[in-house]
Amino acid sequence: MYFRLNPESILTVGTKGSIICDAFTNKIYHLDSNETKLIIQAENNKKIDDTKEIYNILQNECLGKFYEKPPYILKVRVGSSFLSPDKELNFKKIYLEINNKCELNCEYCPKMNLEIKRSMGCMGCNVFKDSSTSQLSLNKYYEIIDTISNLGCETLHITGGDLSLEYSLTKKIISYSKNKFNNILISLSYKHDFNKFLRLLNENTHLILQINLKDFNSNILMNDNITYLVIVPENQETEFYNVAKKLSVNCIPDFLTFKNLNSNPNLNKNYEFDLETFYHNLEFHPCLGKTLFVSLHGDVYPCPLYRTKKWDNITNKPFINFLDEYKNKIYNFWTKNLDTVNKCNSCEFRYICFDCRVLEEEISKTTNEKSLCNYNIG
Ligand code: SF4
Ligand code: SF4
Ligand code: SF4
Repeated sequence: MYFRLNPESILTVGTKGSIICDAFTNKIYHLDSNETKLIIQAENNKKIDDTKEIYNILQNECLGKFYEKPPYILKVRVGSSFLSPDKELNFKKIYLEINNKCELNCEYCPKMNLEIKRSMGCMGCNVFKDSSTSQLSLNKYYEIIDTISNLGCETLHITGGDLSLEYSLTKKIISYSKNKFNNILISLSYKHDFNKFLRLLNENTHLILQINLKDFNSNILMNDNITYLVIVPENQETEFYNVAKKLSVNCIPDFLTFKNLNSNPNLNKNYEFDLETFYHNLEFHPCLGKTLFVSLHGDVYPCPLYRTKKWDNITNKPFINFLDEYKNKIYNFWTKNLDTVNKCNSCEFRYICFDCRVLEEEISKTTNEKSLCNYNIG
């Protein structure tokens, strides 16, 4: 007798065990090392002992089937049936920074130079200490937008600072971009003058509103086009999850963390499986793949907080020329997926997991270590 996982059941093997992700139901099943050995044997089209319980469990969960003869199973996948054969820069997301000013002094803001770090700081607003007064022209923003949208980029994320101080410029950029991206995201703090941005929101333009946990309650403005980025102080994770459960709004926790904290706040969530993300993570870094950030000075970085890795400045060169020149370097950087990170490379969760390279590198001072994870890979 033979047993094979169904085309939509995707197996990832680690040293401790494996997971099977069901691309139809998006459910994830965790197998221990003995069960994993039995499944690997089956997936290699070897004869199996059909009295082993795991095969019946998997059949009952509609994850696989018994066969009389060795079958040929072609796995489902999205997009091309091959990993990208050449190093084309297909973008998913571009961040454009509009300003670097804000009159507030949040303790977790980079300008405060404190040790406090944010787990999702790139989704919110940030000000960096810098003395440059240069600013990209409106036409330069338009040129970047045209180039990147022609390369298939789905999401434009507009960030500051306090964008309400540059409302007119931000509005022009949103208006110019509205038919060029599937998603336009704008980040502001709840303490900024964000109300005037509400009229710019629609089914593809959304506001990410940064709010402190103490202000995140039933008095907040509810709007389907707002996602709340909730700043959660250390040890208040439970309070966040309790409030989030009561309020029916879209929200993302942004955990405050310190350099030596040896646990990964991102792992407090339940894993979710999504086929497109899985195949993205098979080839690219889960967060940095297919992404770039352009600062208001024209400096290009991998992401808003990755300030130690500047690719170039594009103020005086066409953006397309920069992409041509850096194509291979950027592509090689994007494809540093979790197979290239110590510990993750032996973990069965590596294609459905999240990773913030910025925080990791700040902690370990090297490029390929994993500190912010308390999962024991065995
Ligand atoms: S509101 Fe945003 S930009 Fe302003 S200080 Fe706070 S984190 Fe920094
Ligand atoms: S961070 Fe790495 S080691 Fe930890 S669960 Fe995710 S993939 Fe596994
Ligand atoms: S690596 Fe990803 S999560 Fe970390 S700061 Fe950059 S964009 Fe944000």
